[in-house]
Amino acid sequence: MTKLIDRFLRYIKVDTQANPNSGAHPTSPGQRMLSHYLADELRQIGMENVRTSDQAYLYAELSATPGLENVPALGLIAHVDTSPDASGSNVRASVVEYEGGEIPLGDSGRILSPDEFPSLRRLVGHRLIVTDGTTLLGADNKAGVAEIIQAMDTIISKGIPHGKLCVAFTTDEELGYGADFFDVENFGAKYAYTIDGGAVGEIQYANFNAAQARIKIVGKSIHTGSAKGIMKNASCIACEFESMLPPDETPQTTEDREGFYHLSSMKSGVGEGQMVYLLRDFDRAMLEERKQFIYSIADTLNQKYGDGTVLVDIEDQYFNMEEIIAQHPILIKLAEKAIYDVGYIPISWPVRGGTDGATLSYKGLPCPNLGTGGYNPHGVYEFASLNEMEIAVDIILNIIDSLAKGITE
Ligand SMILES: [Zn+2]
Repeated sequence: MTKLIDRFLRYIKVDTQANPNSGAHPTSPGQRMLSHYLADELRQIGMENVRTSDQAYLYAELSATPGLENVPALGLIAHVDTSPDASGSNVRASVVEYEGGEIPLGDSGRILSPDEFPSLRRLVGHRLIVTDGTTLLGADNKAGVAEIIQAMDTIISKGIPHGKLCVAFTTDEELGYGADFFDVENFGAKYAYTIDGGAVGEIQYANFNAAQARIKIVGKSIHTGSAKGIMKNASCIACEFESMLPPDETPQTTEDREGFYHLSSMKSGVGEGQMVYLLRDFDRAMLEERKQFIYSIADTLNQKYGDGTVLVDIEDQYFNMEEIIAQHPILIKLAEKAIYDVGYIPISWPVRGGTDGATLSYKGLPCPNLGTGGYNPHGVYEFASLNEMEIAVDIILNIIDSLAKGITE
């Protein structure tokens, strides 16, 4: 059987950097190349019904071992694209037996230092895969891709009993499209995990509820010399609007489970102004309260400056998957047991953003996220622990094994 590291080193050679300026899906040709390459590999190891979509999402299945047809179908998902934030072209990785201290990254003059990246301290004695300091590594998310394929290959070649398994590799996850084109029904799984987190042992299943408020301010422009009692300066009203929001509920003043209002952009003259706010809260009811508060500020300003001065348009963006996952506690139970069984302690914390798993959960595929053993994503300091990547494979195998043995909700 091919080794995990060999798979991973092959995948990161393909440049799959997502391109936000492309109108096409996938947004870069390398993603389609890698998807097709992986499709061949999945067929070779014995996966069934291997197919790719127009957007180069890759789907495959493995039917249940005879007698285990009633085990719920489990999905495993990763993405093939890499972040637009750093080059993914000509990745020159090297493997380091890590004995502690600083790691020089090629000839780039850059170093990986435990002072800057304290997680390195836990990884002394591991084999680390690092970059040459000029590109990202692509462990986000090719570590996840390699781990899923390694787990499938292990199951098939060792004849390990299993329920139905479904695998998907998506494109342009880094641009937020990883779930948009996902065909949940065709995928065929009852629930799934994305294998797209950091340290092994992580389970992520809580994320923000999110809405976006667009505020339009209609001012009245008039010559400053004769403006008294007539001019309505949209810029001043915009500032007044912002000043009515709680200053301690912004991204820069909150953490953990605290929500916020974020003024993400503002463009204004005297005659007209526009502001965009991002509203975030882990609690759905609190998010609704935040929306109401935005409306109430608009009402107050409209009373002061006249009807139609401040117009508000609020749109939901995504929701906290915790609500959905809570209906399927088996997903957390399975993951926690799998992690304990490899000698790790499960850790989870709320994600202060959205995840593809959240979107998939609301599309009917409950989908927490598990760690890959990749660190410092989206930049030249990205690295992976090969030891943790191998453990991530064992965690996947443990989950499949527990499901096959009949652990139910
Ligand atoms: Zn990712």
